[in-house]
Order: sequence, then structure tokens, then C-alpha cells
Amino acid sequence: MMQQYMDIKKHHQDCIMFFRMGDFYEMFFDDAITASRELGITLTGRDCGQEERAPMCGVPHHSSENYINKLINKGYKVAICEQVEDAKQAKGIVKRDVVRIVTPGTNLNMQSLDETKNNYLMSIYYHKGCYGIAFVDITTGDFFVTEVTEHRKLMDEIAKFSPSEIICNAIVGDQAEMVDEIKNRFHAYVNVEEEWYFDYDRSENKVKEQFHIGTIDGLGMKDYTSGVSAVGALLEYLYNTQKSSIDHITKLTPYLADSYMMIDLSSRRNLELVETLREKERRGSLLWVLDKTKTAMGSRLLRKWIEQPLVSKDQIEGRLDAIEELIHKPMVREELKEFLGPIYDLERLMSKISLKTANCRDLIAFKTSLEMLPFIKKLLQETGTAYLNQIKDTFDDLSDLFDLIEKGIVDEPPISVKEGGIIKTGYHPQVDKLQEACTRGKQWIAELEAKEKDLTGIKNLKIKFNKVFGYYIDVTRSNLNLVPERYVRKQTLANSERYITPELKEMENTILGAEEKIVALEYELFVELRHKIGAEVGRIKETAYRVAILDVITSLSEVATRNQYTRPSLNTEGVIDIKDGRHPVVEKMMNNDMFIPNDTFLNQEKSRFSIITGPNMAGKSTYMRQAALIVLMAQIGSFVPAGEAHIGIVDRIFTRVGASDDLASGQSTFMVEMTEVANILRNATKNSLLILDEIGRGTSTFDGLSIAWSVVEYIVNKHKIGAKTLFATHYHELTELEGTVDGVENYCIAVKEKGEDIIFLRKIMKGNANNSYGIQVAKLAGVPMEVIRRAQVLLSELSDADITKNAERIAENSLAAEIAVTNMTQNEDRIEPIYKEEVQQEQLIHKEPEEQVKEPIQLGLFDM
Ligand code: ADP
Repeated sequence: MMQQYMDIKKHHQDCIMFFRMGDFYEMFFDDAITASRELGITLTGRDCGQEERAPMCGVPHHSSENYINKLINKGYKVAICEQVEDAKQAKGIVKRDVVRIVTPGTNLNMQSLDETKNNYLMSIYYHKGCYGIAFVDITTGDFFVTEVTEHRKLMDEIAKFSPSEIICNAIVGDQAEMVDEIKNRFHAYVNVEEEWYFDYDRSENKVKEQFHIGTIDGLGMKDYTSGVSAVGALLEYLYNTQKSSIDHITKLTPYLADSYMMIDLSSRRNLELVETLREKERRGSLLWVLDKTKTAMGSRLLRKWIEQPLVSKDQIEGRLDAIEELIHKPMVREELKEFLGPIYDLERLMSKISLKTANCRDLIAFKTSLEMLPFIKKLLQETGTAYLNQIKDTFDDLSDLFDLIEKGIVDEPPISVKEGGIIKTGYHPQVDKLQEACTRGKQWIAELEAKEKDLTGIKNLKIKFNKVFGYYIDVTRSNLNLVPERYVRKQTLANSERYITPELKEMENTILGAEEKIVALEYELFVELRHKIGAEVGRIKETAYRVAILDVITSLSEVATRNQYTRPSLNTEGVIDIKDGRHPVVEKMMNNDMFIPNDTFLNQEKSRFSIITGPNMAGKSTYMRQAALIVLMAQIGSFVPAGEAHIGIVDRIFTRVGASDDLASGQSTFMVEMTEVANILRNATKNSLLILDEIGRGTSTFDGLSIAWSVVEYIVNKHKIGAKTLFATHYHELTELEGTVDGVENYCIAVKEKGEDIIFLRKIMKGNANNSYGIQVAKLAGVPMEVIRRAQVLLSELSDADITKNAERIAENSLAAEIAVTNMTQNEDRIEPIYKEEVQQEQLIHKEPEEQVKEPIQLGLFDM
């Protein structure tokens, strides 16, 4: 047997092998050592024909799922090796084989997966300058493919979908830094596969086979090469691990990463889209605010929408129209919520059905879900936007499948599908007949019992049943003298004797025969029914998707109503004009009415670069993130937390915000900051939105200021980038750039001085703060007075340094440089009339800076 073990294990070196022996799965050698450590189970030993005993440990078969999950969650792969022939019939050692390999990306155990999140397996193939990227969620059947040419974009896609497992070719796998990052950041398992795994022809054939097509052009993959290889390898990996058909994967969707807003990895984290930066929790993220979905599918889809904001105005408007419709029809929304509530995870149930692991209770959960669909379909008649019409016109309520389960399966079936009691009366004549035999049998027994009582005169005579003897007559000791000769004694107990009669045994044969047959037949019918539903996987998935969309739309309209969001109006002219904007998460975390709203205005002309000053704690980060989140929400197609919002669609959002000290990556804070700045400067376009917080703060003042300064000049320059930017800084010298560099405007967040202290007003206004109030903030934070006093003395001595004067001089030089560039390219510097008007209006709204900073603000005064 150990030889057999070795032979099989040889092919599964990268897995922990669960080797089936009777009612246990045993593990040997290194597997046993690892498993006993990770699972906290006892390590024993077993003779294996070698000098030393083989380390061994085991887990009971019936609770193996828990152990497997624990190992998967710790990043191991598990190969399940079963006995594949009946032990009774086996000659010699029972045949065994690996029937399934469970890996982090192919885990089918629904209980152990987060239902609000897809569990992706990703495949990356790098060849001739192009990354093919494919990913699949085997529990839902979602399958996507794309190609990108830049390493950065690859990382963005990984960040977007955060797969739990990746397969890649050696060129990718050899990039140690990247692989480390994937492991540290996403805790993903990385498999490096050999080149043949990705062979183009082989892959193409696999794709054709899986999707039953003659040519891959029809899938929209005509122009893909690396992409096809990535898909092929993914399919290969699925076949190898599942060892059964993966028929529920019926669709492959190619997409262009560029059809969505690009958000790079650090911006995703900084903006806390689906989890918070530090605690990695959902609470405190944008998803947490927006997710009022009722179904698992809806929740997963909303996450996808948040991860991939759109860039097409029409598509965004489609979603907005639908949300607005449901806002205006609260009754419809309420009813929708009610009907969505009882819907289970159709996608994952569907996969269980396809993979033949669904039991009767799963089918009943499925039926309960289907029962809601006709109501939803009917309700849709009361709505009428283009997007909702699309859903309505193609909404398949799957009533035939509902009927099938309704007719076939009893309402409260047992968990086991092999013990009968699952098929409804009237579904199949043979089942009915056998069922009758069983019920009639019970009656026969009762009649026989009465008859025997009469004949023998034994009043407490009983006919009983147990698994060993079948039916028998039970007579208590006191009545033994009345037992007739024809009774055959079977067993003597302390208080009674057990007998049988030929008549009783005959009856037993009929009854038990019927019971056995019925159990087998019911199982057969159940499998057939499950198969029939499984054959409709395509239809079911289409419906599940529509349900998910409706759920997300309902959720977004619910959130918009509750939080008083407003519909953004979109433009393609690059104007971002937000009135009374709020930070969607911060306002939720605090008492609603305490959050002080602020305006934001950016365009591609005179107001493209805001330099924001103000003391620490004034609210600069909040303000900048708020602008980014409002733009992002608008492009998701959501209403936004603002009084009014005009959003020029952006192609990318980049953020370099606060201290995202990346301990995991082992780089210094400053290095991380500069890497992110480098990425931004290389990839931002004039249609991007940049949020930069305290660039250059991680080094000496002069270094930092010089870097910050030159970064500003580079970004604001239309011939370099010209992106819309919010730039918070403590380098007040940078405010000199307003009026000298085209496009730069100064803003500050107001504070009010009160004696030696300051009061945060949280209001943004034009102009620059003339003080950092660092010492006041330190005092607020509880730094001892002695230190504060000394700092005040030092400050007054240092503040006469001539750095500011130098800055003025340099800024004037910048003006000269700017004029030179402008003269060279005057023709490109058009200002559309619409901007002019808005710019003028904007100027009226913002009042004069200096005195405002010190004056108390009429609106929303907020004392700390
Ligand atoms: P800064 O970046 O200027 O140091 P933050 O943006 O971190 O300041 O803000 C500090 C705190 O002030 C936040 O944690 C938040 O609670 C509060 N805050 C910020 N903006 C507002 C606002 N508009 N209304 C009310 N509270 C705010």
C-alpha cells in the first residue's frame, strides 16, 4: 500500500495528499508533519517497510471538509485520493486515485467562501511584450479575459480582481518582486507552469471544446494571442484539479481594461474602495456605504462596479436613469427589495447543481428563489428606462424549472439524498405504487398484531422492527406460557422473548423490498431532475445576472434616498464642478449633520491645479478624497453626496495620499512615495484626476520642496500632462505659483484663531493659509506645555529664514518660462466659451482669501 501511496504522491508533489483508508484520510511523511502542525492534530507513525516509521496523521472522512478548508485558507493545495473500487470486490490492494485537487482558487466549499466576493483563479501568460490575463470564478462560472502590454496595468488588473490563486508562465514567475507582492498583498497562491501549458494551438482547441464553437472569433477573441493561451492554461488547470466536467462555465467575456476607469493599485487602497487601508475591513469603505444589496449576486456585482467605474457617458447615464426611476418610485423599490430578499445565491447553487454536489435542500433553496422571479418580472412592467427595459424584455422567470422542482421534490427534504423521502407523490407512478406498498405494509403489520393478540390472548403482544432482525413479535416474560408452537424463537432478552412467523416474514419481504426499491428509485429521479436543471445553466446564469443588476440598482437608489445624494450631470469637457460635496464615508462615520460640505471646481483650463494649504487636521485629505470619491461614484453610475455635481468623465484617478507606509513591501516611506509619484507622472493624462497629498514630506525641507515644486510644474504643464489636480501641501512657498504658472489656483481650509488656540472650520476657500498652526495642533494633541513653549520660541527665530523670499524669486522665473511655452503653442491653448462662463461664475463664488481665513464662517461652524 505504501508503494501505491508513493506512486500516486509522485504526481502531486505540490499538494498535501489526503489518502483514503476506510473511514479516514491519512497523510504521510512531510505532508503529515505539515498537516499535524497546521491542523493541530496528533502525529503518529506507521511501518512502511523502511527502517524508520513513516510520520502519519489522519482526519475522519466525515469531517474532512473542515480540515481541507483550513489548509486551503493557509495557502496549501490538497489532493483527495479516494478508493476507486469497492473494497469487498478488490483483489489485493484497493485501487486508489486522486479524484479532485482543492486549491485556493478552485475551492467549491460554499460555506468557507465569502458570498459577497468572487473567488478568482487567474492565469497570466507573458509572451512577446504582451500579458494575457484570464480569470475564472468556478463557483459562479464568471470567466473573463483581457490583454495588457504594461506591467503596471497587469498589477492594476490583479489588484482589481484580487485572485486567491494565480497560474503563470516562468517569465512572469521569475519576477521575484512581483510574485512577492502578490503573495504579501493578496495572499494569493502562485503556480508557475511550464510553457506547454500555455501552447497557443492547444489552448485554442481547449477553448473551442469548452464553449462548443468552431472558431474563437465568435468569442470576440480574434485579436488575442497571449489571452487565448492564458484561457487555455486556465481550462487545463481546471480539468486537472476538478477531474470532472466544468459544464457550468458556459461563457467567456473578453474585455478591454481601457473601457473602464483606470485606478492603480495604491489609489484603490488609498481611496478605501472595498476595504479600509489599515484594518482591511469592509466597514469604513465605499462599498460599506453603498452596499444595501439583498442577494449575494448583487453584492458581488456591486463590488465589481466599484472596482471598475465606467468611462462611457451613455453607459453611466443608463445606470443613473434606472436609479433615478427607482428613487421616484419608492413603492416599486420597496417591493423589489421584498422579492429580492428570499433569493439565494443562484450562481453558486447553479454551480453545485452542475458539479453534481447539490442535494435536495439546495434544490429547495433554488426553488424558493425561483418563486420570486415572476413577481419581479411583473414589477418591472411598472418601470421604463432603457436599461431597465433591457432587463425586462429579456427577463426569463424560469417558471418551468420552478414547476419541475415544485412537482418533484417534497418541501422539507432530508439532507441525505440516498435515504428516500424526497420525491413528491404524483411525480412518478412507480414511486407512488411503492409508497403505497410501504404505507399499506404498516397497516398490514398493525392488522397482524391485532390478529395475533386475539389468537394468543397476549394483551401486550407487539410487532416491532429493528435493523438486525427485521420485524419480530415481542412477548414479555409474564406471557411466555401463552406463546403458541408456530412461533419461532429468535432472541431472548431479560424481560421478553422475540419471535417470528412465516406470515410475518413474508410481509416483511414485501415491505422492505418496496422500501429498498423506493430509495433507489427516488435517488435516480432526483439525479435526473438535477441533471435537467443543470442543462439550463445558460438561462439560469442570464437570469441571475439580471437579478444582480436589479439588486445593485435598488441598493444604489436606496442609498441615494437615505443619504440625500444627488444625480451627477456628466460632461466630456473635463469640468468638475461640485457644490456642497461631502465625503460619503466620513459623513456616515460621524453624525450626519456635523459634516461640513465643500465645493470643488476644476477644469482643463485656468483651474486645473488647486494647491491646498491648511494646518494638519484641517480636513485637507478628507476634502481631496471626497472629490475623488464623488467622481468615482458618478462613473459607477451612482448618485453622489453633493448639493449639485457636474462631473467631467475622467480616464484615471491617481492618488498619492497620506502615509500609506508599506511595511509589507519592505521599502521606506519616501521610496514608496516616490515610486507612486513616478507612476503618476508617467501615466497620467490631461483627462486624469490626481490627488496628491504632501508630496516630498519624507525628506529634508529643501529636497522635499524642490521635488514638490518640480512635480507641480510638470503636471500643470499642458504639454507634459495638464491633468486636473488637487495638491495639498505644507510648503507654503508653492502658493507663489498662483498667478505665475497658468492653471494653478490656491485654496486653503479655514481655521479660526482663538487666543493661542485654533478652531477648525472645515471650509475650503480661495487663497492660501498663512500659517501651519503646527504648534497649536501639537497642543491639541496633548504635547506637554514645556515643549510647546520652546517650539514657539524656536519658530519665531526660524521663520525669518529667507526661503520664502527665494521662492518668490523662483516663481517669477517660472512665469517667464511659462510665457515662453505658451507663445510657442498658442493655437493649442483654446478656451471653449462654456469654460469661460463657468470660470467667471466660479470667480464670483469664491471670495477674497486673506480676511476669510481669519473671519468666522457663517456656515457650519465646527468647534473641535
Ligand atoms: P488633514 O488632511 O488636513 O490633516 P483630515 O482630512 O485628515 O485633515 O481631517 C481630519 C479630521 O477632520 C477627519 O478625521 C474628520 O473627522 C474631520 N473632518 C475633515 N473634513 C471634515 C468636514 N468637512 N466636516 C467635518 N469634519 C471633517
